[in-house]
Amino acid sequence: MSRRTFTADVTRKQSNCGEIGDAGYASTVEADATMTPQQLRERLEFYRDLGIDAIYLRPATASAQGEAPVAEAHSGKDAPEASSLLTASAASEKRVAAASGRSEIVLPALAPEADTLLKIKQDIGECRRCRLCEARKTIVFGVGDESAKLVFVGEGPGADEDAQGIPFVGRAGQLLTQMIDNTAAKEGIPIRRDDVYICNVVKCRPPENRAPQPDEMEICGQFLYRQLMTIKPKAICALGATAMKALLNTKLGITKMRGEWQKWNGIPLMITYHPSYLLRQYNQEAKRQAWEDLKKVLHYVYD
Ligand code: SF4
Repeated sequence: MSRRTFTADVTRKQSNCGEIGDAGYASTVEADATMTPQQLRERLEFYRDLGIDAIYLRPATASAQGEAPVAEAHSGKDAPEASSLLTASAASEKRVAAASGRSEIVLPALAPEADTLLKIKQDIGECRRCRLCEARKTIVFGVGDESAKLVFVGEGPGADEDAQGIPFVGRAGQLLTQMIDNTAAKEGIPIRRDDVYICNVVKCRPPENRAPQPDEMEICGQFLYRQLMTIKPKAICALGATAMKALLNTKLGITKMRGEWQKWNGIPLMITYHPSYLLRQYNQEAKRQAWEDLKKVLHYVYD
C-alpha cells in the first residue's frame, strides 16, 4: 500500500490554548492513499482542531514505506507492549546530551530501589535539566492519592498550573474534575478526583503553551516513569496525543488509539482526548467518546 506523508508545521494558536495549558497534538500527519477525500478532510480538520496551522506535502520516507501496517502495530487488549519515550532499562544514572546546547545532563537512577514520590521530588529539586526551566514559575510534580489505583497523565502545565504548582487546575482541569466526579457518581463508583493521581509528562510549563519537544519529554519523562512505577496503579489514562506518544512510541493518531486498552510496562493503559480539546464547542462526538473511555477505565479499575 502506498503511503503519503504530510509534515505539519506545528504552531499552536494562543487564542485557543492561552490559559488552558496542555493540549496534545502530533507533529506528523500521515495519510494512506486509500483514504477517501472525506476521511482525509476529517483527518485534516482534526489536526486543525489540535492547533496545527500549516501542512506541507513531502514524499514518503524509506522508513515510512517499510513500516508495518498500523493495524498490526496496536490491536487493542492483546497488543504487544510498545516501546516508549520513557525507557525502562537504566538502573543507574543516565547521561543525556541536551539538544539545546547545554552540557551533558546527568539523570538520577531510573529505577532506584525502594523509590518513593518524595525521593523523586527530591531528585527533581530545582531542576534545570531541560530548557523548560527557563520560563517556569513552579515545578508541577503531581497531585492526588499517592497509592491511587488510577493515574491520569497529561501533557504539561499551563499558566494556571504554573502559578499554583498543581496539575489540571485551569479550565481543562475543571473539566477533568467534572468528568471524573460526575462519571463516577452516575456509574455508582464511590470515588472523586482526590482519589486518583494526576501528573504530566513534563513538569514545567512550555513557553507560550507549545507542546513539549522530544528531548524535553525524554528527560522529564524519566521522572514520570518513576512516578508511575512507584504508584503502580491498576490502570493509567493518558490524556491527549502528547501523553500517548510519551507512553507508547506510536505514529498512530489519537483518534485511532483512543478507547482501546494498551499496555505500558505491564499496566493497562487507556488513551483518550485531552480535556482542553473537549472544551471546543463543536467537539460533541469527541466528548461523548471521552466519557465512554472514562467509564471503561473507572469500571475496570473500581468494579
Ligand atoms: S521540565 Fe522536567 S526536566 Fe525540564 S526543567 Fe522541568 S522538571 Fe526539569
